[in-house]
Amino acid sequence: MERRFACTACGKCCSGRLPLTLKDALAHAGRFPLAMLWTVVRPGAKSFALTARLGTEVRLGKRKPIAVQITPISYLPPLMACPALAADGLLCTIHAEKPLRCRTMPFYPYREERDQADLLVPRPGWLCDTSEAAPVVYRDHEIVGRGDFDRERQDLVEQAPVLKAYADRLLAMAPNVTAALEQAANKPQGGYVVLGFSAVLARLGQIDVATFARRQLPVLSDFAARTAGLSGAGEFHRYYRDSAAGMERLLARHSQGAGTNGNSGE
Ligand code: SF4
Ligand code: SF4
Repeated sequence: MERRFACTACGKCCSGRLPLTLKDALAHAGRFPLAMLWTVVRPGAKSFALTARLGTEVRLGKRKPIAVQITPISYLPPLMACPALAADGLLCTIHAEKPLRCRTMPFYPYREERDQADLLVPRPGWLCDTSEAAPVVYRDHEIVGRGDFDRERQDLVEQAPVLKAYADRLLAMAPNVTAALEQAANKPQGGYVVLGFSAVLARLGQIDVATFARRQLPVLSDFAARTAGLSGAGEFHRYYRDSAAGMERLLARHSQGAGTNGNSGE
């Protein structure tokens, strides 16, 4: 079985939330409004073991443990264009430094390599080339030209201990997170929880928190302004507004507490 695929740079998939590695999230903190997405994967799902390995496994009450995919994201309403997309809606303005997720498209490293075929079928409206003229990218359940996929998967494997420590801490300290996860797990199709990004900073060792907050704050404020009164974007607006306020507090705390360089390592 062979599948062909080529990106025609139509920009149609460059909207809505964009999964990132932690490295990409930090590198683009001055560009994307960041959040953490926790997605429930039920026992028996194909990607259960991989999800548990890259994210975490959680036992909610007496039910079987669920796996939780924990993903840093650029958090945007579904139809809002990525801030790195050019005004013509076609070109990526950061092509040379775009996140690994964009390089690996349409493959998805949170799935096993053998389960990628259906991702190569473009969604309605997407102008990906899957004709005979396009190169073969997937053969006998293996990715041909796998460099970006392997790099993204490797980053996910390396960041997994950080995300597990972050998740353990939040689940132990914040009962509302467990309750939200339980609600998500009860949804028939599975669900997800969106959480602020700042809690993961504490698990990142020597990161300069003040510098991060200085880069992220104007992005969140800008998106809060862009979504004020925007139909269907209420939950996004509240997230940006509340996260901007949280980022201001973080900045004040770290700027005061860390003297001239703001690096407290929280
Ligand atoms: S970073 Fe570039 S390729 Fe990735 S979603 Fe944004 S515009 Fe598209
Ligand atoms: S929808 Fe397909 S062709 Fe268009 S930018 Fe995305 S991957 Fe490329």
